Amino acid sequence: SPIPDYLQSVWDTCAQNVDGAVADYIPELADVDPDLFGICVATADGYLYEVGDTRTDFSIQSMSKPFTYALALAHRGIEEVGTKIDVEPSGDAFNNISLERATGRPSNAMINAGAITATSLIKDDGAESRFERIRAAYSKYAGRELAINNDIYESESQTGFRNRAIGYMLRTVGILEDDPDPVLEDYFRQCSISLDCRDVAIMAATLANGGVNPRTGDRLLSQPLLTHLLSVMTTCGMYDAAGDWVTSVGMPAKSGVSGGIMAVLPGQLGLAVYSPRLDQHGNSVRGVQACERLSRDLGMHFMRVS
Ligand code: GLU
Repeated sequence: SPIPDYLQSVWDTCAQNVDGAVADYIPELADVDPDLFGICVATADGYLYEVGDTRTDFSIQSMSKPFTYALALAHRGIEEVGTKIDVEPSGDAFNNISLERATGRPSNAMINAGAITATSLIKDDGAESRFERIRAAYSKYAGRELAINNDIYESESQTGFRNRAIGYMLRTVGILEDDPDPVLEDYFRQCSISLDCRDVAIMAATLANGGVNPRTGDRLLSQPLLTHLLSVMTTCGMYDAAGDWVTSVGMPAKSGVSGGIMAVLPGQLGLAVYSPRLDQHGNSVRGVQACERLSRDLGMHFMRVS
């Protein structure tokens, strides 16, 4: 089929690019092979096309944010979540300690302040802990049981001073209502969930497929919540490069500091790229390049008018 050949040609071109640097704030990310590179496309009806290192595990990091936000929206509804987390792009770096002056709300759920708040909105339900609910939800999107990488979690927790500062700030202004520490630990745990490029592509395809996992048939998100989520991913998903991304790629997306990028073409497909070298915004260099190329060649920009 021409699709694998085409993906291979995109991979070959982008693999030449050795710009950027791997995240080095914890050893588990610093020590990764910087040349790893995988591209996986999952269609909204569940077909997978993959090239390169699509079966290497990495930590989900900030690609967890949309899924925890989705879970918070499902538990609490758009209106209640909106009293805690706004939907405005901040233009600031992901870990900025910036909260809305009047209400204390974080700008959006794709930056750490908003993501930590989203985690806090998931409650234990007696039978399952908050983290277990989060892990189980991600697993349903991926269509298989995902697990935490404990070494990464330990490191995240040991070095997470800035996130703790954000958590305590959120508690001061009343956006977090309880002790920030357990919330922060669960946020560190959610960032440490391990998966591969195929999992990310299927998670994206589930969003592309109207919230139904195309492989398991599980309905995971209702239509209004999905539209809300994809909108926030569009305006806020790529750190402070969201505007660049929307103009050059034109898909709701989320990236993570481990080098993953997840993009969604609604109704069509989910796209996952993994390559650990990051640009100055924290987005995978090859990931952005591969997505730009795919978007252009395949006409995937969602504002494309033909
Ligand atoms: N664990 C990282 C943090 O919260 C995730 C950062 C990211 O992927 O952007 O700082």
